[in-house]
Amino acid sequence: MKEWPQDYFGARPVLEPRCTCASRDRLILGAVVNYGSPLRCSNCFNEIDPTEILEEWLVSSLAAWSHIHRAILDLLMEVQEEAYSEWARRELETMASSVNRSAIRLLEQINRSYGCVYWSGIAATVDGRCPSCQSLMTVEKGWPSPVLICSACRLVLPTSSVSRLTSA
Ligand SMILES: [Zn+2]
Ligand SMILES: [Zn+2]
Repeated sequence: MKEWPQDYFGARPVLEPRCTCASRDRLILGAVVNYGSPLRCSNCFNEIDPTEILEEWLVSSLAAWSHIHRAILDLLMEVQEEAYSEWARRELETMASSVNRSAIRLLEQINRSYGCVYWSGIAATVDGRCPSCQSLMTVEKGWPSPVLICSACRLVLPTSSVSRLTSA
């Protein structure tokens, strides 16, 4: 099996410390600015090497998607050119955007083997509704910062501004 990231275009090394949990309740797709791997463990919140748990074709899809998703997160953090960050915010807020539709497709594939939720990188709106199905999201404890979750759509949103999901 290949290793992440040397053989995957645009991939960055898995950040240390990486997840070493014997069992994982759930995976998190996406998450934070400057991530190495787009997959994290919801127990320890550290990154997981996708090649350890997913088939190679899915790892390739994940690498291609994260290349784009991470670039959009970078643009979101762009402070010199406001137009870029506004564009990036719209991409992440709009569930029909290309990056989000691809994420949902990946989510479906990953969920055939592992429970996985998507953290796009934008905060929840004040009404607390799911950006996809519009139903009320529920507060979930046990995260480094308070989050809202829609278990039907498998979406996770932090309750305040730009997410920086790190180990507690
Ligand atoms: Zn872990
Ligand atoms: Zn939903």
